[in-house]
Order: sequence, then C-alpha cells, then structure tokens
Amino acid sequence: MKYIVVTGGVMSGLGKGITMASIGRILKNRGYKIVPIKIDPYINIDAGTMNPYQHGEVYVLGDGAEVDLDLGHYERFMDVELGREHNITTGIVYSAVIERERKGEYLGQTVQIIPHVTNEIKGRIRSVAAKSGADICLVEIGGTVGDIESMPFLESVRQMQGEENGNDFLFVHVTLVPFTTLKEQKTKPTQHSVKALRELGLQPDIIVCRGKETLKEDVKTKIAMFCNVKKEAVVSAPDTEDIYEVPLLLEKEGIFSYISEKMQLEQPKEDNEWLRMVERRKSCSDKEFFIAIVGKYAELEDSYLSIKEAIKHAATELGCRVETKWIEAEDLEACEKDVGSFFQDVRGILVPGGFGVRGAEGKIKAIEYVRENKIPFLGLCFGFQLAVIEAARNVAKLKDANSSELCETPHPVIDLLEEQKEVVEKGGTMRLGDYEVFIRGDTLAKKAYGKKKIVERHRHRYEVNPAYIERIEREGAVFSGTDRSGTRMEILELSQEKHPFFLATQFHPEFKSRPNKPSPPFKAFLEACLQVQKFC
Ligand code: GLN
Repeated sequence: MKYIVVTGGVMSGLGKGITMASIGRILKNRGYKIVPIKIDPYINIDAGTMNPYQHGEVYVLGDGAEVDLDLGHYERFMDVELGREHNITTGIVYSAVIERERKGEYLGQTVQIIPHVTNEIKGRIRSVAAKSGADICLVEIGGTVGDIESMPFLESVRQMQGEENGNDFLFVHVTLVPFTTLKEQKTKPTQHSVKALRELGLQPDIIVCRGKETLKEDVKTKIAMFCNVKKEAVVSAPDTEDIYEVPLLLEKEGIFSYISEKMQLEQPKEDNEWLRMVERRKSCSDKEFFIAIVGKYAELEDSYLSIKEAIKHAATELGCRVETKWIEAEDLEACEKDVGSFFQDVRGILVPGGFGVRGAEGKIKAIEYVRENKIPFLGLCFGFQLAVIEAARNVAKLKDANSSELCETPHPVIDLLEEQKEVVEKGGTMRLGDYEVFIRGDTLAKKAYGKKKIVERHRHRYEVNPAYIERIEREGAVFSGTDRSGTRMEILELSQEKHPFFLATQFHPEFKSRPNKPSPPFKAFLEACLQVQKFC
C-alpha cells in the first residue's frame, strides 16, 4: 500500500479537498485504484449535528454516514462509493479508545495520546486502506497545521512514514501564496506553514500553492529553496472558474510525473474521459439560463454544494450552462405581494432540503407560485415535504395543513412515523442513506429514471402522514414513488396535463450525481427548463 497524505497551511478554505480529489482523479486516470480518507479533527462523532452555515453541507453516504462535504468531492472526482469508515474524526477515535479502556483492553496501562490514540488512528487508516484493495490510499487531514486538534493525527502520519517503505509515503502540503497590492506573490506564509510542519517532524514532498494567478518561476525557486523541496515539486494551483479543471491543471504542472518518480509508479497511458468531460463543459457556455434556488442559507452557497454540482453535471450533459439565482426564503416570506418579482428571468425553481420553521412559509409561497404559473419545479427532501403541504392546503383544501416539525397543526400532513417518536438522541438517528424506491409506471419519475426500482440516499426524520395520502391524491397530485411497502411516500408529482414539470423527492438525488453521470431528476428538470418558452 502506498500513502499520499495531504495537509494544509496558512488558512482553511483553500481547496485542500479539491486538491486531494484531483490528485485521486489523476491517479485514477492512470489506472490506479484509489481509496480516500478524510480526517476531521473536530470532536463531533460526525457532521450530522453540525450547522451547515458554519461547515457547509452535510454530505450523506450510501451507508447513512453524515460526513464532511469533502467526501462529496472525492465521490464526484474519483467516481467511488464511500462509507463511514472513510471519515475519521477525533470523536470517533477517542470514543473507541475510551471504550477499549473501559473493557480493560489496555491491561492496566496509563492510556495516552502516544501511543494509544495514535495507534488507534494508524490502525483505522491502515485497515480502511487494506480492506479497499486499492493501490494508493489518500489521506486528507482537515484544518490547518498548527491547530491543537490536528496534532495527534499529524503525529500518527509522522510515525507511519517511518514504519512504511520510503517510496510508499508522500506528503503534499497545500498553502496560500497571496498577492500584494503591488501584484507581488508573497512566499512568507508558505515558508511559515512549512516551518510549522517541520517542527512536527514532517517534511512536505510536494507543495501545492493556491493563489489568484499562476506562480512566477522565481517565486517557485524561492519556495523550493526555503522549504527544502525540488522546484518541480512546487505546484501552482491558481483559481479556476471550473473545479473540474483542477486535475488537468495539476497534471499540466507535472504533479503526476513528480509523484510517480517519488513513489516509483509506472506511467501508464492516460484515460482522457475526464478531459473530454471538461471540454464538453467549456463548449456549453453559449446556451445559458437561470434557475432559482429558494434556501435558508442561500448566502452560504456551500450549504447546497452537491445540489450546485448536480445542476452542473446535468447541464453539461444537456449542453447548456445554468446559473443559479439564490433566493433567501425569509425575504420571500416577508413579501406581501408580487412573489413573481423574485423570479424574474428564471426558467425553473428548486426548493432544497432544510430543517426548522425559519423561511418555511417563504418556500411554500414559492411552490404555490410555480404550481399556479406552471414553472418547472424540483423539490428535494424538505422541498418535497413543503410541496405536499402546499398541495394539501391549496389543492386538497386542508386549511392549516403543516408539518409537525414546524408547528402544532390540526392537519399534520407531514409527521413523525411511530419509530421516530421514540428517538431521543439527535445524532445519526434520522432515516439515513440508501433506500430502495419503487416508481409507478407512466409518470414523470419513471420517464426520468427509465426504471421502476431505484436506490437513492436519504436524510430525514419526518414523512408524509399516511392518513392524508388518499385525500391529497384525490385532488390530482400523484405519489409516483414509494418504499417497498407502499406506505412511505418518496416522490410527488403533478400530472403533465396539469403542469409541465412538477417533481419532488423525499430523497436527495444530488448525492449520487457524478460529472459524467448526472442525476435523472436534475436532468429531467433542466430539460423541462430548456423547453420553457417564456421566462417567469
Ligand atoms: N426537516 C425534514 C425532516 O427532518 C427534512 C430534512 C431534509 O430536508 N434533509 O424530515
């Protein structure tokens, strides 16, 4: 097994996750089998209880793990399916160590960070790597070098390097090279972060420099000299408009030749499927239109990252370019009349997942507007539940219909199923991950997926209340997808005589979308948008 460890310096948010995902893609293009691991040094067991406003989207894996959004980058770039063991947090590591201590497994020893916590970390990394059957394991250590939380993890990889063969371990450090007002590229922050790494006993093999523009040659020379790496190992990673171009940019900078030389990899011929995808994306730019996303954290676009990516994937396949107009649901809620003014020039409206009452009525207003004005609509999870509420209120005439998540209501059309009523703990207790969905024939959903049984990822606690299904369906809405038993509603749509495209899913199709394999509901939604003659 070979290991590539990615660390970050200077500050967070530099795109370490995308850098690692891109290195993974480059290696995959050369035929190597890759396994990625994300280390998150926070004490939470997982990202499930974390506020997306601070951390961005909570990404959901097939096995139901609620993880950091970087795992979404890995799945999309490397086209792999990951599981909970691919995200290691301080919370997971310490609970395991404490559990072992309670069982008496440490045989009377004093339990310490070194060696007990570090052994736990190394054991986990090695076991995920070994189980995957991969050639190369990529490990990203979250946070920035110097944070207290990441120390045990950095110490663990330092030990691992000594324990593995020299050619089998490589460190990539991602840093920032800022620009001054005089357009000078400054290397000092990079020098300092590498110094911090070296104080911990780690010497980077490759330094990936993020910045506005390509690094000048003399700046590369300077970084190489001060940071004790070869000049070829200083890689420039300037901002790009399209993240899917990053693997190509890094490859051009010679990162693969350097890695292959250092790790003694062969240089097999490159598969250029990724390159073709990026070129297709570039050629899409002339057919451009807007859709609106009505969200709660609309100001922090990272909280809807996978949705944004899924839109891009579907747009690429359809040869168009879709721009997003972010609408804050609370602004819509406050709007007394002329809801339409929020949606000028958009061809379709998407209402994404969410929690809690803030902004919910604004989203319902948007749904009423799209239904009445026959504007293409895609609702996801909470967006599905709110579409059910809207249909119950305004079509089935159940005044005050609502979700029991949001308020007390005489008509809880969205409610907790019995099993959820008993749940006390908040973390990891929703209906999470892959579940089968059975689709009715002759529906929009069937047309979109082209099959009757699908598997999609879920993350919800509330569901359509079975007591109201018949009443809602009587008025023309169709539950076109359910679970195997037929009691859990998974997809809502309006018949095409009533509306050109109105589809909402209890699941989150965005998590399975890939750059080369767009998600069917997204593709169908954009196809419907393309057919819109008149904008809102
Ligand atoms: N709040 C809703 C629920 O828990 C929807 C969740 C979501 O959109 N992910 O069921």
